[in-house]
Amino acid sequence: MSSPHSTPRDEKGQHHVSEARDRVVVFDTTLRDGEQSPGASMNLEQKLQVARALRDLGVDVIEAGFAAASPGDLAAISAVSQQVDGPIIASLSRCNKGDIDASWKALQHAPRRRCHVFLATSPIHRDFKLKLAKDEIIKRSVEGVKMARERFEDVEFSAEDSARTELDFLVEVVEKAIEAGAGTVNIPDTVGYALPTTYAETIRHLRKNVRGIDKVVISVHCHNDLGMAVANSLAGVMEGARQVECTINGIGERAGNASLEEIVMAMKTRADVLRVRTGVRTERLYPTSRLVSQVTGLHVQRNKAIVGQNAFAHEAGIHQHGMLTHRETYEIMKPEEVGFAKSQLVLGKHSGRHALKDRLIALGYILDEAQVDKVFADFKVLADKKKDIYDADIEALVVHGQILGKGQVAWVIDALSTTSGTGTIPCASIALRSAGGGTTREVAAGDGPVDAVFKAIERITGIQVKLRDYQIASVSRGEDAQGEVSIEVEHPTGVYRGRALSTDIIEGSAQAFLDVVNRIALKISPPKESEARAEMGTP
Ligand SMILES: [Zn+2]
Repeated sequence: MSSPHSTPRDEKGQHHVSEARDRVVVFDTTLRDGEQSPGASMNLEQKLQVARALRDLGVDVIEAGFAAASPGDLAAISAVSQQVDGPIIASLSRCNKGDIDASWKALQHAPRRRCHVFLATSPIHRDFKLKLAKDEIIKRSVEGVKMARERFEDVEFSAEDSARTELDFLVEVVEKAIEAGAGTVNIPDTVGYALPTTYAETIRHLRKNVRGIDKVVISVHCHNDLGMAVANSLAGVMEGARQVECTINGIGERAGNASLEEIVMAMKTRADVLRVRTGVRTERLYPTSRLVSQVTGLHVQRNKAIVGQNAFAHEAGIHQHGMLTHRETYEIMKPEEVGFAKSQLVLGKHSGRHALKDRLIALGYILDEAQVDKVFADFKVLADKKKDIYDADIEALVVHGQILGKGQVAWVIDALSTTSGTGTIPCASIALRSAGGGTTREVAAGDGPVDAVFKAIERITGIQVKLRDYQIASVSRGEDAQGEVSIEVEHPTGVYRGRALSTDIIEGSAQAFLDVVNRIALKISPPKESEARAEMGTP
C-alpha cells in the first residue's frame, strides 16, 4: 500500500498515484478524538453513518477509534473498515503489543488500513505521566513503530504533546520513528498551547533537522484550547506539513480539535496564499456538519464559521444593499460552495418516497433501501399529524427513530401516566421493561409531572442523577411542531446527555430521561468500557 500523500482521490473516489506537492491529506478523527468529547459517544450504527458521510465528503483517512480502548471501539473500527470503502481506516494504539494487536484485529480485513501509534515526548508527560527517561521514550517509540510495521504497511507515529517537547529531543524521536518505518509523522499540540508562530517554528525546525523527513508526510494535529487550532494547523501546512488531523464541527476533548470545514475552506478560499488543495467535496460540508451535530447532540453555535446558521446571513441593511449590487461586497464564499441548504424545502402528506430520499441525501444521510422505507413509514405517520414537514423534522425522524439504532438499552417504557392540576399533588405512574424481560411499576409524587416521572424512573432503575440542564425546543416551525427534549445530568461516573422527540412533552421528557439512564446503565454494567481510555490519555 502506498502512503496517503501519493494517493489523492479522483472524482470517482478512487485513489491514484501522484506526487503532487500541493495536495494535503485530510485525516478525520471525528470518530476517535471527536467522540472523546464529553457526552458525544456514538453507537455502532451512528458511527457507520458518520463514516459513510465522511467518505462521501472525500476525506483521505478516517480514524475510526482506539481499538484497545474498548470492545465497542474495536467492533466499530472493524465494521467501518469493512463497510466503508475508499478512505484509509486508521486505529489508534499506544506503543505496546496489546494495543497493536487490537488494532490488527480491528483492521485485518480492511482493504486500506493504517496503524497510528503514539507516545508522549514532552518533559511534563515523561516525568509525571509515563515516568520514563528520554532514551526509554526513544526505545519504546522505535519498538512501537517496528511492531506496527510487522503487520501494517502504513504506520503513523505521533509524538504526543510535541508542541511542549524540547526541539532537539523532538528531532531525535521523529528521526528514529522514520528510521523504524513510520510513513507519516504527526506533531500534535495535544493541549492547545501553541501559537501559529511557535507551531510554525516547530515544523520548520523538524524539516530542517530531521534526516529522512522529506520521504514522509508531516502531519499536524492541533487542539483548540486557546481558539487557535485551525490557525496553528494552517501555520504548519505553510511550513510543509501535508496531512491535517481534524474533526467535523471541531468537536473533541475540552475545547475540541481543529475544525475540518474551516481548514478546508481556508485552503480553498485563500489558495492564493496557502497554495494547497484537498480532495474534499466542499458542497458536502454542511450536510456532514448537520449529521454529526444530530448524532452527537453537540449543537453548532449559530455564529460558527462555515457551518453555523448565521454564517451566511446578512442582517445589516447596508450589507444587504451591497450584496444585492454585487455579492462579493460582503461574501468571500458562496453558501452553495459548502452545501448550505439553498431553501428549506417543505415536504407534506403527498410527498413521495422519492422526494423524501432526495431530501435525506441532501441532508447528509446515506441510508439503505430498508432504512429509507422505515423513515418513509415514520414520515407518513408524522405527515398525518403535521401539515408541513421541514428538514429538521426529517433529521429528527432519522436520529430519534430506530434508523440509527439505539444500540443496547437496559430499559424501555411500557406504560406512562401522570396527573397534575390545581389543588392536586403531581404524580406519575410508570412501568419499565428491563432488557431481561421483567416489568417494574412505580408511582412517585413530584414538584410537577415531569419531576414525578424522573423520580419514578430513578426508583425503578436505582440510578440517581443530578439534573444539570433540561430544555425543550421545537425542531421546526408551526403550532404542530415536534418538541425535542434535551437533558444533561451528572452521575458519579460522568456527565451524560440524552434526547428524545415527541409531540407530548411529558412523554418526550420521560424518553429523554430514560435515554440518559440507559447510557449510565451501559457504562456501569460490565464490561467496563471507556474508563480505560480516560486513564490512557491520547494525542
Ligand atoms: Zn487530539
